[in-house]
Amino acid sequence: VIEIGQPEHSVVTTCAYCGVGCSFKAEMRGDELVRMVPYKDGKANRGHSCVKGRFAYGYASHKDRILNPMIRENINDPWREVSWEEALSYTANKFRSLQEQYGKDSIGGITSSRCTNEETFLVQKLIRAGFGNNNVDTCARVCHSPTGYGLKTTFGTSAGTQDFDSVEHTDVVILIGANPTDGHPVFASRLKKRLRAGAQLIVIDPRRIDLVRSPHIQAAAHLPLRPGSNVAVLTALAHVIVTESLFDEAFIREKCDWSEFEDWATFVADAKNSPEEIEKISGVPADEMRKAARIFATGGNGAIYYGLGVTEHSQGSTTVMAIANLAMATGNIGRPGVGVNPLRGQNNVQGSCDMGSFPHELPGYRHISDDGARDIFEKLWSVKLNDEPGLRIPNMLDAAVDGTFRGIYIQGEDILQSDPDTKHVAAGLAAMECVVVHDLFLNETANYAHVFLPGSTFLEKDGTFTNAERRINRVRKVMAPKNGYADWEVTQNLARAMGLNWNYTHPSQVMDEIAATTPSFAGVNYDLLEREGSIQWPCNEKAPLGTPVMHIDGFVRGKGKFVVTEYVATDEKTGPRFPLLLTTGRILSQYNVGAQTRRTQNSVWHEEDLLEIHPHDAEQRGIRDGDWIRLVSRSGETTLRTKITDRVSPGVVYTTFHHPGTQANVITTDFTDWATNCPEYKVTAVQVSSSNGP
Ligand code: SF4
Repeated sequence: VIEIGQPEHSVVTTCAYCGVGCSFKAEMRGDELVRMVPYKDGKANRGHSCVKGRFAYGYASHKDRILNPMIRENINDPWREVSWEEALSYTANKFRSLQEQYGKDSIGGITSSRCTNEETFLVQKLIRAGFGNNNVDTCARVCHSPTGYGLKTTFGTSAGTQDFDSVEHTDVVILIGANPTDGHPVFASRLKKRLRAGAQLIVIDPRRIDLVRSPHIQAAAHLPLRPGSNVAVLTALAHVIVTESLFDEAFIREKCDWSEFEDWATFVADAKNSPEEIEKISGVPADEMRKAARIFATGGNGAIYYGLGVTEHSQGSTTVMAIANLAMATGNIGRPGVGVNPLRGQNNVQGSCDMGSFPHELPGYRHISDDGARDIFEKLWSVKLNDEPGLRIPNMLDAAVDGTFRGIYIQGEDILQSDPDTKHVAAGLAAMECVVVHDLFLNETANYAHVFLPGSTFLEKDGTFTNAERRINRVRKVMAPKNGYADWEVTQNLARAMGLNWNYTHPSQVMDEIAATTPSFAGVNYDLLEREGSIQWPCNEKAPLGTPVMHIDGFVRGKGKFVVTEYVATDEKTGPRFPLLLTTGRILSQYNVGAQTRRTQNSVWHEEDLLEIHPHDAEQRGIRDGDWIRLVSRSGETTLRTKITDRVSPGVVYTTFHHPGTQANVITTDFTDWATNCPEYKVTAVQVSSSNGP
């Protein structure tokens, strides 16, 4: 029983977990948070919430939080608490001396999708204007970077096309590589409501997720494909649509490049892409693929929703483009009820990408080589910007091992736990002379840090998050920062220590700078957000109150671009030693690596990660439900308990990755998406055998 006092006042703010971006009233008694109440006027959630947003805020006052800056010369030395002044001047001196010794490009930084837009904007500004290079990357590298590449290439902008309200107008939904009942629960409720009202559902997922069959919902089709065969299955659906003339010729002729469509249609119509041929690759019965394609093409308004089961593949960007092809071919873009909708994992993954956290892109997705775009920032910041793309996270680590990359500022990201090839990440971090971790807790990456800067929670700062529907939601300070400074102030103070003349007194001024430099944010300011509650970008002269549905009068890039998406098998192969394919996901009550959800008071949430295995595969190995097993891949091994279930197909096993002890990234491979380096977390060849436990 949790004793709750009576609140005295409340502050409306935004959940800091998933990309749905629910609004809450934080009810306070003095400086104490009494409870989080879902806000009925929140446009993303309309008074609904899930357990994480409502109850999992205890981490903000958890005893593990570090509240004072610390430094150490050597990672084997004990930490020494120091003043903010000492920590920041130590960092600035170290970074400057590394640049003098090894060159301008020897340092860089990583922004966080957990931080606000304003904080992210300032980190990339510090790196571009202060460090003098473009060595900035974000944790979106390991989740939705293929969304950025794929949707920009095909539609012209790196974002989902719809608002969440759109689902109420849909007639048929393809849900691929996403499990919203666990990952995006409030959106899942809206989707379920629409399905119960008669919309049809096609699930493309190796697992029989809850939505395939749940009370009053029965998917019209479930395509339980082999992990790694997304592109093949989507191409088979396209084959049916083209060969049976189910495509929307009028839409394509008006909105897309017709000759590119013809090239694509010739490609998908090839016999090698027929459902019968693709069945051999994917394991999905050809009839089911034919049925799904016909339902989607003829069922009315068709919408596609997807998650990390699409992006975290060696063909992640190709899969996103294959989805875009399917939507364009069926005319399902540019009105309510249709569209291509990435379900973003983290609260501000859309925003961190919008804010120029990529080494090749300025805020607003303009390439760093774009003279006009650079000129805007150069004039405002009084600097000359480097026009060469900088290093991505994996390249920073490679360069560290090679001795040319020597220092890094990491805000709100535990790369040792979240990034692929843990051994290589550790080697890269260990090779650097100055690793600065700016976070709430001493995370795994901090084992390699020389400076620790305490971070602030979403309750302790003002700013904005941008959710999966491009909605810019206000984050409002509920209590004073326990460490003395909000994260944006820490970045500003570091910039000042490095000699930059920054004088922001409130994040609203940072938003004004974003609006002044970034066309899709041109009309955004805190007064407007106060009046409207939230705004979906693009928000500018043409759309002063934002844009719920994009590409209505044509695509942002002009004509929609069909891209030939040839299926290429992953290099990760099964064989006698590693006969099963491991794929991964989340559960409702935990969040990513669990840094926050594991630090709540509610012990019910401390569930362990389990390995789901099909009864046939379990029986072959003499494994019973609940047994400890040894999970071995070419990269490493771990131990887990099993859950025997036919939710997974024979030959496929599945686990979550919320607990550090699971060490899922010790198991996964170092294969990455060809276009963006997003890791292929969703396909790992493994062997499973009995074990006595860890
Ligand atoms: Fe927070 Fe997402 Fe849950 Fe909403 S659905 S309360 S944004 S975790």
